[in-house]
Amino acid sequence: MKFELPKLPYSFDALEPHISQKTIEFHYGKHHQTYVNKLNDLIKGSAFEGATLEQIVQKSEGGIFNNAAQVWNHTFYFESFSPNGDEDRKPSGDLLKAIEQKYGSFEQFMDDFSHAATTLFGSGWAWLIKTKDGSLDIVQKSNAENPLQDGNTPLLTCDVWEHAYYLDYQNRRPDYINAFWKIVNWDIVEKRFKQ
Ligand code: MN
Repeated sequence: MKFELPKLPYSFDALEPHISQKTIEFHYGKHHQTYVNKLNDLIKGSAFEGATLEQIVQKSEGGIFNNAAQVWNHTFYFESFSPNGDEDRKPSGDLLKAIEQKYGSFEQFMDDFSHAATTLFGSGWAWLIKTKDGSLDIVQKSNAENPLQDGNTPLLTCDVWEHAYYLDYQNRRPDYINAFWKIVNWDIVEKRFKQ
């Protein structure tokens, strides 16, 4: 099975001014595409030829893992956004209740998640997850690492590799994280939470 770059659910300029068309052109068009291409090259003739992306992420190591997980993580990340929203987005329903139960308030959750994304050293991802017992947690993962490896359910992620924000925000990672909150599609996050 050959993996393909999934189509974006919005146009390249749809997330402006928070994430620019130029960043999408490189981050999605070049970085994400390259992970897909490398994965296809690496699995050719390996035990993972024919496996699903999730199976590869959960069972592989080394270069195959790095590229498979980066394909999965980027697909999940880009699917988490929607354009043309208002500036004060927040979840509703059971997800909001679960967030308030765990963090006290949505604002406190945003602070905790932003802190995890800001303080992650080097390249990686900040994640909101649903753990095996059904509770929420915020975790930092380095490089391509992914909560699926721990048997947890990813709900939301922020890519803090420099390639995700350097064209728009240079070294100002906190500014990128502030912009991130303005484009999160909470309907998608709620669907993931209910699964
Ligand atoms: Mn990235």
